Amino acid sequence: MWSVGLDLGGTKTEAVVLSDSGQILARHRVATPAEQGPAAIVQTLADLKDLVLAQAASVTGGQVPKAYGIGLATPGSLDPRTGLLRNSNTTCLNGQDLQSMVNAAMGQSVRLENDANCFALAEARAGAGRGFGLVLGLIMGTGCGAGWVHNGQLHAGPNRVAGEWGHISLDPTGPSCWCGQRGCVETWLSGSGLRARYLELTGRSRDARDILMDQSEPEARTLQETFDWALAQGLSRVIQVLDPDVVVLGGGLSNLSGLADRCARGLEQTVFGGCFQTPVVVNQLGDSAGVIGAAWLGLNQGEPQKD
Ligand SMILES: [Zn+2]
Repeated sequence: MWSVGLDLGGTKTEAVVLSDSGQILARHRVATPAEQGPAAIVQTLADLKDLVLAQAASVTGGQVPKAYGIGLATPGSLDPRTGLLRNSNTTCLNGQDLQSMVNAAMGQSVRLENDANCFALAEARAGAGRGFGLVLGLIMGTGCGAGWVHNGQLHAGPNRVAGEWGHISLDPTGPSCWCGQRGCVETWLSGSGLRARYLELTGRSRDARDILMDQSEPEARTLQETFDWALAQGLSRVIQVLDPDVVVLGGGLSNLSGLADRCARGLEQTVFGGCFQTPVVVNQLGDSAGVIGAAWLGLNQGEPQKD
């Protein structure tokens, strides 16, 4: 069965169609109409789904099949008590019944999942985590998220917070985080956190990647030190709970030169037991991991959701 994957990002929304054999038949990307509100966003998703299905039918010389799966990757997660979306950076969607809205717009059940979980699933099954039993897929971008995949199956957890390492507080007197705590991992490690810390130190705005690569400016060096500290402290706590077989890095900062080595070095010095041998690797599927993971989850529609 074909499956449509949709990845709702803060600025861009992407869609793919996967064939029965997992081949990408069609792909398209549009701007997310975040300023226009929930109804416009959901309509964009439905239109994009129709567009890529038509493209896929054209490529294969056939018709759009009557039955296909649909999966949607989104920042945040559905609150298990209310079913409403929470913690999305497309803030107009928070508190909305996104699940019912997309089901109604698509005319069928849609599998909705956190985007870091979709990333981890795709990398575990077809990317840098392939062949490993327990995969930790880390996102370091605008925010810090992660997903856990065990033997090819996603573990999202009953509270839908598995992998939320970005909101482990490392210092109760640290910078304020949007989540209400202070000193969260994300306040030092994410692109938005780095920019905010740099602005506090210098009064100037600067790109997060530039801050991490600058070898001469003292303020940038200071933030690189807190970055390395937060990375080692935050990640070692996650590692010590479940000890994954591989760590796959994703998100906008993940392909920064030397980040995987920097990460491994910090963990060697920090993880309990004095021995850290776990491979830390950069993703292989790039920006497409989330949308591919969503498409695979969409295939499971109609089956019991054991994830
Ligand atoms: Zn936080």
